[in-house]
Amino acid sequence: MRKKNKAPQSYQFSKTLKLAAAGILLSSLVWMDQAGAANDMDADLKLMYHVYSGDEYAGAIEDEQTLNKWIESQKEKLKDKYDLSSLAVNLKDELTIVPEKVFSAETHDEEVLEQIKESAAFETEAKAIELDGESIAYVRNEEEVKDMLRIMKKSAVSINEFAAYDRQSTGTLPDLKTDETRITDISIEDFKKPADVKVEPEKLVSAEKAAERLLEGSEQEETHKVAEDETIEQIIDKYDMKEETFFELNGDLEKDEELAPDSEVKVIRQLEGLEVTVKKEKRVKESIAFEEETVEDADLLKGKTRVEKEGKEGEREYTLKVVETNGKEVSQSKKDEKVTEKPQKQIVAEGTKEIPSRGTGELGWPANGGTITSHQGPRWGKHHKGIDIAGTDNLTIKSADNGKVVSAGMDGDYGNKVVIDHNNGIRTIYAHLSEIHVEPGQVVEKGESLGLMGETGFSTGVHLHFEVYSNGKLANPMDYL
Ligand SMILES: [Zn+2]
Repeated sequence: MRKKNKAPQSYQFSKTLKLAAAGILLSSLVWMDQAGAANDMDADLKLMYHVYSGDEYAGAIEDEQTLNKWIESQKEKLKDKYDLSSLAVNLKDELTIVPEKVFSAETHDEEVLEQIKESAAFETEAKAIELDGESIAYVRNEEEVKDMLRIMKKSAVSINEFAAYDRQSTGTLPDLKTDETRITDISIEDFKKPADVKVEPEKLVSAEKAAERLLEGSEQEETHKVAEDETIEQIIDKYDMKEETFFELNGDLEKDEELAPDSEVKVIRQLEGLEVTVKKEKRVKESIAFEEETVEDADLLKGKTRVEKEGKEGEREYTLKVVETNGKEVSQSKKDEKVTEKPQKQIVAEGTKEIPSRGTGELGWPANGGTITSHQGPRWGKHHKGIDIAGTDNLTIKSADNGKVVSAGMDGDYGNKVVIDHNNGIRTIYAHLSEIHVEPGQVVEKGESLGLMGETGFSTGVHLHFEVYSNGKLANPMDYL
């Protein structure tokens, strides 16, 4: 009778095969073979395989390929489903397969496989996307990291701006034309270079999704170690949580309960989304205001001005550099300023000629020509207080003497009325004007225009009604003219 093979450990393991499927980081599947097995092989003997998961005996299988086939088919399935280029299987415990020749083999391929499935974890290479020290997404590879960054940058500007930014070469940019704007840089603040990790394919997300999470931020459940005298309210404030969320997470705690120092509570930490910074520059054309120079003019009345030489605005161009973070301007600077046209000074003459506000005592004719159409005295059952002048060469009403305007405006039957005080006891009144050209307080010169003759107020036709007062008493204009 042939003796049964001894326990597997007595075999001399001459060959250790690692199953290497295309491009895979491999695996803890170890194959063991018997040295010179073919020579000793007896035709009556059958070959079976003992499977060990770590130190544990999982059972015997008939087909040495059972496990390998399952692993390969599982990999294909996952690679297809998640569109992966690489996938490795990690078995929690090292799998050892030991062949044995026996007369009758009792094998349980299905059961052994079920057992192995539980310890098998399929993992793919990935890039871990971090926000505030936490992995918030996994993408397949560097290409997808680039896609993700591109999506984030794109989100910060308009479609056209991005297209132009994309086209522009990375070297020295051509000079900007007037009014031209361009984006010189789009960067993502605090972006941490993704680490190479291995994750279950189920955890992978698209570049779009990863970009969204980075921009919008995320929430992270954590444990918080209670400091001395720290209250629940303080913890809720610290993490900016909703009170009900805190108590949902920490169901065993009561409101106002005192917390023991060093005890732990569950909290949700807000991970702020990343900010995108956009640098823009614009060639701005801007006018330069001209300066005004004043020169004195002794022939011009004091308070009057006259433009001697018209000023002209100049023009300058500069490049405005603007930095925006999340669409909000954070800084602005100018560079390459160039004056394309110098401004020209405006020269203004300013009158210095003083007008005495004291009258000469001799009143001048208050109009240009004309005749007296009505004298002072009784008229239509009333007393006519002044004289009426009409038929003048033009409508200009003139101040009868130097003086100061006391009032200028509408006054009942007088219509538009100007009162001048000549500072020598005499006051003159001009009525029915169609336009008034002086203001109260203004000093006027003898003969200076006060406005235009008209027929405002109680008036029959265009004329000037002229009154004279001496020391507050009505006087007859004819005594002065
Ligand atoms: Zn009158």
